[in-house]
Amino acid sequence: MSELRSAVEALRSETLPELPDARIEEDFAELQRVVDLLEVERLRRLAEIERRRLLERDGHLSVASWLATTFKVGWGTAREHVRIARALEEMPETRRALESGDLSMSAVRVLVAARDSDPSAFRRSETELVEAARIHSMQDLQRVAAYWREAVERERSLEGDEKLRERRRLHASVTLLGLVRVDGDLDPETGETLLTALRAVLDAESRSRREDDDRTPAQRRADALGEICRQWLDLAERPSVAGERPHVTVTVGADTIRGDSGGTSELDHVGPVHPETARRLACDASVMRVVMAGRSQPLDVGRRTPVVPPAMRRAVIVRDRRCRFPGCDRPHTWCDAHHVVHWADGGPTALPNLVLLCRRHHRMVHQPGGFRLELMDGRPVFRRPDGSVLEDRAPP
Ligand SMILES: [Zn+2]
Ligand SMILES: [Zn+2]
Repeated sequence: MSELRSAVEALRSETLPELPDARIEEDFAELQRVVDLLEVERLRRLAEIERRRLLERDGHLSVASWLATTFKVGWGTAREHVRIARALEEMPETRRALESGDLSMSAVRVLVAARDSDPSAFRRSETELVEAARIHSMQDLQRVAAYWREAVERERSLEGDEKLRERRRLHASVTLLGLVRVDGDLDPETGETLLTALRAVLDAESRSRREDDDRTPAQRRADALGEICRQWLDLAERPSVAGERPHVTVTVGADTIRGDSGGTSELDHVGPVHPETARRLACDASVMRVVMAGRSQPLDVGRRTPVVPPAMRRAVIVRDRRCRFPGCDRPHTWCDAHHVVHWADGGPTALPNLVLLCRRHHRMVHQPGGFRLELMDGRPVFRRPDGSVLEDRAPP
């Protein structure tokens, strides 16, 4: 250490006004470099002091405290020096460039600040950043570092999105009671799509919502999800699977569909359902007749044909435009063509016997002991469960 001191002494003994210009400039350049080199060495020792916990001898809890107290350095400066000292231990290329005089301490401070934002990304980009520090002015280097930091942050948020996406899952399983349990986590984008679709259905509903709608919000969301799936299944341009556009399938005995109790009706995935549910589903559906020999052998399989042919449905839509239930204005896309007298009971699939009903009202008129719908002089008349007539406020 005395050699360093004596070098400084030699400098101090020089009488500057007597020195030639070139010599002054040369000395300055050398000092500028050596000061940085000395700074690197000082910081290297600071890191070593921290590593050896030498500061604990005087009861200091941190090396910054030791530096601030022992050398009367400001706290902010002390912390900054510790930060750079630690960082330089992990920045081999930066240190090499600094030691060979290619980098100034100012440039190193910029690089250390960049590294602070993401040490592992800095390790991957250190070569390029040191090269930038070598060729750019301080101002440009700061700009380069800012761009780099932005790019890293962008990448990091993308990575974050990917990590979230990996956690996506959806389970839909049939429970013992025949309820389908839905449980899952959707990635942000899919979740947003779901929420948008649910909201769209709920908003459309709230326009035609009646005071007697006693569904809870959760029940309304469940109905909305059903409506979304159903309308998707109804899309004509939907791709077919094995030559058919898959749809909800209910298998029901011929007696059961005629209203005889005791028979069975089954949905493909969920299993047995109430016969009246089968009658409602069959009310406006495609039907395929399967004649069975015994319990499990199909003898004859008919063609799948829609109960309400497309042309007939269009005629009903033109006439009714929307749900015919008094006070309901849900558009025809939400509606089924309901047979006032069920086709299984001999009711004709003809305009006078068909009425557009939205899914909720369709369900209500099929409910045993619920609202009734009958034709009087060719006009639909809705009756409350107690038999009183529901006034049709807006007949078409
Ligand atoms: Zn019906
Ligand atoms: Zn309705």
